[in-house]
Amino acid sequence: MSEASVERTKCLIIGSGPAGYTAAIYAARANLSPVLYTGVQPGGQLTITNEVENYPGYPKGVIGPEMMEDFKSQAERFGTDVRYEIIDKVDFTGPVHKAWTESGQEIQADTVIIATGASAKWLGLESEQRLMNRGVSACAVCDGFFFRGQEVAIVGGGDTAAEEATYLAKMCAKVHLLVRRDELRASKIMQERVLKTPNLEVHWNTEAEEIMGSEGVDGVRVLNNKTGESTVLPVTGFFVAIGHKPNTEIFEGWLDMDANKYLVTVPGRSLTNIEGIFASGDAQDHIYRQAVTAAGTGCMAALDAERYLADKGII
Ligand code: NDP
Repeated sequence: MSEASVERTKCLIIGSGPAGYTAAIYAARANLSPVLYTGVQPGGQLTITNEVENYPGYPKGVIGPEMMEDFKSQAERFGTDVRYEIIDKVDFTGPVHKAWTESGQEIQADTVIIATGASAKWLGLESEQRLMNRGVSACAVCDGFFFRGQEVAIVGGGDTAAEEATYLAKMCAKVHLLVRRDELRASKIMQERVLKTPNLEVHWNTEAEEIMGSEGVDGVRVLNNKTGESTVLPVTGFFVAIGHKPNTEIFEGWLDMDANKYLVTVPGRSLTNIEGIFASGDAQDHIYRQAVTAAGTGCMAALDAERYLADKGII
């Protein structure tokens, strides 16, 4: 493919998590011949999850990467052109929207569905990488169930950490919340909930130094950054809830975003501030962040794109 070539499509989908593939299934079945760019992490965040037990239709659970292969096959079955490349530049000035791949291919699209997702922030410990999906997780709602009756730790002091810590406390024997300062950033109501949960212990001024274990987690060494004292907590699960980062950098300056860089859509719709550009999934949702909700908004984006194309007389 020549670097200077320009390609035209009715529907460009950026991202390959549940939102992107669901948008692709709907767009392909509506004969929009969508072109989907997978981005850096084909399959999205679910490819770093182990078993998914809360996606309807899989009563026995499903391995995250396998589920995303199923999504992809279903999108391809109806003619989605899936490409393992990254879109790293866009230009949304004209009526026809432009995007460029890393290798310089220009795509001109009548509609663009953004499904670039978000990425969990991690602490950056070597042990965190090594034990990921073997007891280390960034999603209590996804993985908490595997630790029922056990003792777990969770890092963070915001609303997510507070919410996930209280969620874990309902099924785990004990939850240790590791907070790096002497206060929580979470809203007052969430703070109260944390402090009144009996099996939830808050460790103030505390940082995780090392997650221990080889095949699974069997403890975490924590440091009190005020006293300098190091202790080991006997946990079998370790959750990180220090925030997410939406993957929206390339849209800065084009699309409306909130203070945390999540894309802003018309309430209850997938419409962005630019005609013909639709946003779905975690790139525009910091509240629910579930595969099933992402899939739902992917569907909405495809239906909105189809209606837009029909209104413009393009299809
Ligand atoms: P936040 O950015 O609000 O909080 C991140 C937390 O993680 C902070 O307490 C921060 O500490 C801590 N942290 C960051 N980096 C590290 C690190 N390296 N080591 C240890 N701790 C660290 O993210 P959230 O995901 O909690 O929330 C994001 C947004 O979503 C917020 O606006 C929140 O209110 C909202 N939200 C709302 C919910 C609701 O209304 N039900 C539920 C969940 C989220 P420090 O405080 O010291 O900076």
